[in-house]
Amino acid sequence: MSTLEQVPIAEGLFTWPAEQPQLIGSRCSSCGAHTFPRQKGCPRCSRTEMEETLLASRGTLWTWTTQGFRPKSPPYGGPETEETFTPFLLGYVELPGQLKVETRLVDVEIEQLRLGLAMELVIVPFRREGDTEVVAFAFRPVAD
Ligand SMILES: [Zn+2]
Repeated sequence: MSTLEQVPIAEGLFTWPAEQPQLIGSRCSSCGAHTFPRQKGCPRCSRTEMEETLLASRGTLWTWTTQGFRPKSPPYGGPETEETFTPFLLGYVELPGQLKVETRLVDVEIEQLRLGLAMELVIVPFRREGDTEVVAFAFRPVAD
């Protein structure tokens, strides 16, 4: 086991520490729309009756792409230089009855991806800050 302290990349994104981490979103009590991350106002009906809700930790792959260059900071908080940047997979995972989440895809090669692939939430190391390991969320194929 690692002795690094693990801290989430941002507060309020996912439950942590947790054995079964879940993304933290919000749900409109007026029209039922979901958002991730949490929002105060509903993107569908514009009301402000959003309540915090835990999102499903499994879903299906909806679309994907390769992030082949370093994204702008912020919001990207990964390695600072092009030299240490490695391309990664990005996609949208549809959580049944909730919404589509933009996410990194891990433990998979692009050739293995297909529409509707069953995916599950996983918390992964993102970068080191001294004795602290910053962790982020990602999705990976459900092992079967
Ligand atoms: Zn609404």
